[in-house]
Amino acid sequence: MFAALPDKPDHDALELAILELWETEGTFEQLRALNADGPRFSFVDGPVTANKSLAVHTAWGRTLKDVFQRYKALRGHHQRYQNGFDCQGLWIEVGVERELGLNSKQEIEEYGLAEFARHCRAVVERSAHELTKGSIRLGQWMDWGKDYFTFSDTNIEYIWRFLAIVEERGWLHRGHRATEWCPRCGTSISAHELAGSYVDRNDPSLRVRFPLLDRPGQAIVIWTTTPWTLPANVAAAVLPTAEYGRQTDGDWIAVERGEGVTFEEVVHGADLVGLRYEGPFDALGPGGGVEHRVIGWDEVSLDEGTGVVHIAPGCGTEDFELSKTDDLDVLMPVDESGRFYPDYGWLAGRSAHEAADDITADLRQRGILVDASVITHRYPECWRCHTPLIFRISDDWFISVAEIREPMREANRTVEWTPGYMGKRMDDWLVNMSDWNISRRRYYGLPLPFYPCSCGHLTVIGSRAQLAELATGPLDRLEELRRPWIDDVVIRCPQCGDEVRRVLEVGDVWLDAGIVPFSTLGWENPTHIDEGYATGAAAGLTTADLPDHAAWEDWFPADWVSEMREQIRLWFYSQLFMSVALTGQAPYRKVLGYEKMLDESGREMHGSWGNMIQAKDAFSRMGADVMRWQYCAQPPNQNLLFGFGPGQEIQRKLLTLWNSTAFFIQYANIAGFTPDQGDLADGPQGELALLDRWLVARTRQMVVEVTAAYEQYMTVHALRAVEAFIDDVSNWYVRRSRRRFWNGDEAALRTLWVALVDGLRVVSPIMPFLTEHLWRVLVTDVCPGAPRSVFLAGWPSLAPVDDELLAAVADVRRVVELGRQARAASKLRMRQPLRRLVAEGLDRAAPYVDEIADELRVKEVVFGPVEATELRVRPNLPVLGPRLGAELGKLRSALAAGQYEMLDGGGVRVVGHDLGPDDVLVERTEKEGWAVAATDGATVALDVSLDDDLLLEGRVYDTIHHVNTLRKEQGLALTDRIDLQLPSSDADLLVHADWMAAETLALSVTLSADEKISLTRR
Ligand SMILES: [Zn+2]
Ligand SMILES: [Zn+2]
Repeated sequence: MFAALPDKPDHDALELAILELWETEGTFEQLRALNADGPRFSFVDGPVTANKSLAVHTAWGRTLKDVFQRYKALRGHHQRYQNGFDCQGLWIEVGVERELGLNSKQEIEEYGLAEFARHCRAVVERSAHELTKGSIRLGQWMDWGKDYFTFSDTNIEYIWRFLAIVEERGWLHRGHRATEWCPRCGTSISAHELAGSYVDRNDPSLRVRFPLLDRPGQAIVIWTTTPWTLPANVAAAVLPTAEYGRQTDGDWIAVERGEGVTFEEVVHGADLVGLRYEGPFDALGPGGGVEHRVIGWDEVSLDEGTGVVHIAPGCGTEDFELSKTDDLDVLMPVDESGRFYPDYGWLAGRSAHEAADDITADLRQRGILVDASVITHRYPECWRCHTPLIFRISDDWFISVAEIREPMREANRTVEWTPGYMGKRMDDWLVNMSDWNISRRRYYGLPLPFYPCSCGHLTVIGSRAQLAELATGPLDRLEELRRPWIDDVVIRCPQCGDEVRRVLEVGDVWLDAGIVPFSTLGWENPTHIDEGYATGAAAGLTTADLPDHAAWEDWFPADWVSEMREQIRLWFYSQLFMSVALTGQAPYRKVLGYEKMLDESGREMHGSWGNMIQAKDAFSRMGADVMRWQYCAQPPNQNLLFGFGPGQEIQRKLLTLWNSTAFFIQYANIAGFTPDQGDLADGPQGELALLDRWLVARTRQMVVEVTAAYEQYMTVHALRAVEAFIDDVSNWYVRRSRRRFWNGDEAALRTLWVALVDGLRVVSPIMPFLTEHLWRVLVTDVCPGAPRSVFLAGWPSLAPVDDELLAAVADVRRVVELGRQARAASKLRMRQPLRRLVAEGLDRAAPYVDEIADELRVKEVVFGPVEATELRVRPNLPVLGPRLGAELGKLRSALAAGQYEMLDGGGVRVVGHDLGPDDVLVERTEKEGWAVAATDGATVALDVSLDDDLLLEGRVYDTIHHVNTLRKEQGLALTDRIDLQLPSSDADLLVHADWMAAETLALSVTLSADEKISLTRR
């Protein structure tokens, strides 16, 4: 006996029960043992930042990773299943600052770096625990407990090694340049962190007058949206080839920017170059010591502002470059926290953005402000703390990309990207990438192993052993390779013997994640070390081993990685960079990227907007299977609109599968049917009906389609194939076979069982819980010796598909579909039998006339030309009226009488006139008594004329339907027999008494005085 199913699944409860079963039965461990000798499938997990619990966003990526690992496992692949956590950098630091109520770097230093580091580690530990818990609930199978943590000393040493190699090649350099800078975080921000950080912002828009020293009463007018940079002004740039004009008030602007303005004098920009002017804040110290002048610059835009650009080389990238070519002074007005330096008078100590209003007021008061308004524009903010960025001159460490750019592009061309455009995006990024800024002026991160000596020699430490060798003392107080402990280690310069200290900077967090394909796989590590990855801060959090180099060769490069699109410039990039630098090849063969997640109405999800969905709410309200289905049904090239609404939609779809299974179980139990596990391998045995053979072919086709979809990493195609299959099983096979199930037909039961089980097996990677549950009900519980888990049962066999049979039934279903449309158009109810159906253009359906007749309740099905339509041709009056005048009446009656001849090209010959296609209106209408539906070359016509016999039969069908509804309402079992009483007004139906009795399991059909139909159970 199969266990009966309730009306609908309780996903949450069912999933928790399955999790417990997996745990107690060690299902995952059994699966790994089963595949231990199988071919390798190498997946490398992109680390999730360990600073939060599981969010529905993260669950998307985790689902995709799990789906393909499960699929590959079902196909016998041996896998590593190593999960990763990202543990350093600003994400972690800023969260900890908030927790501790610290607001600046100074406060962190006062708090103490050792304590701060311990707090950061505690956050990682707590979050790793939460993320693991959430991922397990999601159904993700990983080797939990053997995770890699990027803050392990091992990972750090691997990055040191990479940096030492980069230095050997001469790629490492220290840059003095203007970079985007977060004043709150007190660090520069690199290009890959910047992309995507632009937001709409309201900023002041000022036009300011710079009085020309050599031309009293005249001034050059500039435009700026960053008033705080004015105290750093040194030059005003004009476009040499453009025309500039002097207004009546003496102000100079570009002629193109002065619509409707009268100019007293017009010259070329080149004529203004060299003029000296009074700086806007010369009274404030540094500005006063600078000679301000007008310079020429080809990049000046005439599209906005005044056509004169204010140049402050200490506050902008292009400005800084100009300072080199035009020999300009560089004024740096603000410090690391974005506050004016003490020599800026009344501005000293004020933050750049806060000072804007007072600067504007000051300019106005001094009469040099032309006007001030507000502009909305795109402006970059800190990706972590959302503070508007500023530009600062900063000394940062860079890796030059000049030599690696083309090799990286070359390596990227070997990668198979899904969707394909993401590979192009990567190439675009590589073409445009600037030197990699790897240094951050922060605390909790990879300590850059750079020891610059005053003698000019730079030592880049490549390993802990090398550090010990060069250190002036023992390393016994070096708790972790981390600030503050590492800062106490002093080395001796190998060049001159002087003592050297490490630079204080830490590394870009993407170095941490980029090295993973090397550090976790044991690149160039001579011998396997048990728990060799559990070092430094990772000790006690994981038992991950450090494999040896042979293992690296086995597992590198990854067969597949998957992350969201923004990782193109982040993890996919840093990995590719480090891999090409170290090995010359790409670290992955295939990539699956995906777009963004929004809420179900298409808005970004934000905690403060109240539309954020917590993973734990999603688990309890819709269940992990439904979430996973939602993720997997998403084409990866579009944003996912995630929510409970779409979740309910999916639950409804799953109900179709559930109901078909419940239907099967009900009749299998009545018939005492026991499945034969061998049918799963060989197909259902026995005397199969045509419809059974169709379902066998349809099942095989579905398995082939879903397999191909997984091979292409397109879950959306897999789900479409499964959905269509579920629909076919329920709305065709089961519908058409009901009578056989009532009769306990063995072949039908065997066939449906195989179809249902194979359907479960192929969708199990996407929906592991429901499929596992149903596998146990349909297989484990009733087949002795069958695998206890669907995941231990392997993949269904890929057998040849009978395409002809499938095509024939596809035609049958089209005939039926068109027949239904025609019936709907005729307004006749489905239960009313009809005399005849004619189908044209779907001849492969011809052997199935009985199926069609039964399905559409028609007496006769004929394949042949449909003559149920006729042409109607009418004159196009607005065209023909003026042309034909009195002739028109004669022509009209001839057309109505059908006295015309159609011409090639759609024209008509009638009463001696040859009319063009525009002169007439041609319609194809149904002949009286027929209902017609047509689509792409196929037409179905129903004879809808009714006679007394048909009307009587229609009433019999109504009665049968009514009685069966009553049976359900009265709670009768499917096998219960009844006595049926009809009202005397239905006496004429008794000629069909046997028929009615058979359809309603009635032992007698009699008339009663009652007005209504009634039944009594025997
Ligand atoms: Zn910031
Ligand atoms: Zn030295």
